[in-house]
Amino acid sequence: MLFDYHLHSKFSADSTMTIEDICETAIEKGLEEIAITDHHDIDYQDDAIEFLLQKDNYLNELEKYQEKYEGKLTIKKGIEMGLQTHILKESHDYLKNDFDFIIGSFHTAEKKDLYNGDFFKNYSQWESYIRYLKSILEVVKNYDNFSVIGHLDLVRRYDYYDTSPDLMDNKEAKEIIRSILKILIENNKGIEVNTTGYYIGDGKNPLPSVKILKSYKELGGEIITLGSDSHSTDQIAYKFSETISLLKEIGFNKLTTFKNMKPNFHQI
Ligand SMILES: [Zn+2]
Ligand SMILES: [Zn+2]
Repeated sequence: MLFDYHLHSKFSADSTMTIEDICETAIEKGLEEIAITDHHDIDYQDDAIEFLLQKDNYLNELEKYQEKYEGKLTIKKGIEMGLQTHILKESHDYLKNDFDFIIGSFHTAEKKDLYNGDFFKNYSQWESYIRYLKSILEVVKNYDNFSVIGHLDLVRRYDYYDTSPDLMDNKEAKEIIRSILKILIENNKGIEVNTTGYYIGDGKNPLPSVKILKSYKELGGEIITLGSDSHSTDQIAYKFSETISLLKEIGFNKLTTFKNMKPNFHQI
């Protein structure tokens, strides 16, 4: 039983996959259910690219494929919502009750983009990591219209620095991460395990890292989705069986899917 809960179709400016490409590949790879999660980043901080979702077209298209693949593949209406401290009301208003599943992601912080490096420019490595985590903490304290937080230690994915240390190796970062996880658990929110993490460093950690996943487990966290964050078909379900083994080793025994924002748990 496999679910890929982080997939980008051509409705995201950085993907060229059609929804049909995604569905066909998902079936080939033996997936039972997927959530398509295209980007919507309000006030994205890099003018070179726009991540605004044409919501009505997108939802219509998803419904078309839900019908087409009925009985073969379950397709959930998802979105990857770029969150920032100053756009929380707009984010909430945009989402309404239109989605099954919402990934809350932090692609920018302090009104600066991570991908183009602007955010990292003025800080030392740990200073930038700690500031990034603080902006996530600020949001989760004040906002809960999401199902899971995406790639919690995303700052490791950008090779701005020579190394990509585990964020749990710094005392202050660790404390902030634990605070974020505690709030998520209290609010019945989860985290995603994003397999793009294996492209970084020694290739042994997803995003978030094993240390963060262990901490989430230890604090009582149970809501976990698995996502490949694919922008091309070869990435779909990347390293899923290894990741499920890893999750079991840590002590998790369930994966989560969502319908109308409500979690369903599946034994692994
Ligand atoms: Zn993302
Ligand atoms: Zn993504």
